[in-house]
Amino acid sequence: MSTSANTRSWVESANGHADFPLQNLPFGVFSRSGLTPRGGVAIGDWIFDLQAALEAGFFNGAARTAAEAASRDQLNDFFALGAEARQTLRRELLHLLDENSPQSARLQTKAEVLLHPMGECQMHMPAHVGDYTDFYVGIHHAMNVGKLFRPDNPLLPNYKYVPIAYHGRASTLCVSGTPVKRPNGQTLPPGQEVPQFGPCKRLDYELEMGVWIGPGNASGDAIDIVDASQHIAGLCLLNDWSARDIQAWEYQPLGPFLSKSFATTVSPWVVTAEALAPFRSAQPPRPAGDPQPLTYLLDPADQHNGALDVELEVLLLTRQMKAQGVPAERLALSNTLNMYWTLAQMVTHHSVNGCKLQPGDLFGTGTLSGPQTGQFGSLLEMTEGGKHAIQLPSGEVRRFLEDGDEVILKARCKREGQVTIGFGECRGVIEG
Ligand code: CA
Repeated sequence: MSTSANTRSWVESANGHADFPLQNLPFGVFSRSGLTPRGGVAIGDWIFDLQAALEAGFFNGAARTAAEAASRDQLNDFFALGAEARQTLRRELLHLLDENSPQSARLQTKAEVLLHPMGECQMHMPAHVGDYTDFYVGIHHAMNVGKLFRPDNPLLPNYKYVPIAYHGRASTLCVSGTPVKRPNGQTLPPGQEVPQFGPCKRLDYELEMGVWIGPGNASGDAIDIVDASQHIAGLCLLNDWSARDIQAWEYQPLGPFLSKSFATTVSPWVVTAEALAPFRSAQPPRPAGDPQPLTYLLDPADQHNGALDVELEVLLLTRQMKAQGVPAERLALSNTLNMYWTLAQMVTHHSVNGCKLQPGDLFGTGTLSGPQTGQFGSLLEMTEGGKHAIQLPSGEVRRFLEDGDEVILKARCKREGQVTIGFGECRGVIEG
């Protein structure tokens, strides 16, 4: 059964849903009062319970094997199965949830156990993350930040050859909704030569996509660029919380350390490569004079169709705005087409030295700012390092985040002739 833009689901709220229509079907791990954490699929305002569907006998053969892996309290085993198993399960889910499914009557009689209201469920980390790596492929962010730190030399010469990254901290990854505690650290006040210790004063967010790794490679092997997309299980939103004052003092010569490792928030739903397929795009051409990628990073098919067209949004909701009933204020609107390197190039580069990637490893793309005002994915860029204040509708101003501030990331894919799909939300409140 093919799923066109016209295909509807018997789960009514899915039809026209901003994030989770039938065409999306992202995977996540949820729990509900009385139920242990387990794998599920978002459909409209509901979560389809894979364990309950298995118990009711709705899957057979290869789809059953994939559903069993996806029904556990982490999606690592499911990611390990790879693209073919994921596609088999997706086909079966599309079939079951289609309004014309021959099984729809039987499914609806069991809806009470198969479907859980999303609002009554708690979401968990989708996978156990062995390693987390944060890239830096948003070229406008790299330029904007480079200008602040090094006005004469904003982009270092390696940037156009190497998909730059640093190894992040997996232990403090958390799922949307988890409060974020303001970190303590060393900072060097302006004009001083000796650092002081205390709470971060320049706390910031970074608008990024998260990339969930599928099967991966054995230690010593490299993932060829033509195979790299097979190792991407899906995407989520990612907020790389950043303590700018700590970062400015500690980052040379080895890069970010404690300024980033206190918390990184991800959205709970893994939007699969298959759901994103209608929103693929050619990699934007490099500006004239830029070098071509080295051969091991260059695949014509990846250049032709390896980029993604995902609209990204940052919103801010302060404690005062909440109290006044003022809606969250949009701070930025950007797009994943601002990536200088493709997801496949990130995967291949990461493994080219033989570094082992494992199912459930997570990449951050790096901050995905656009080139213009209104498209900046961090406060560092919006306020030019705190020089300019942002006016909020509550009458408040912000240069960096204050306690009680909530940052909300959203993303959606829109294209003529396609059903719009979204990523849900990636939220976090700052606690003092
Ligand atoms: Ca980052």
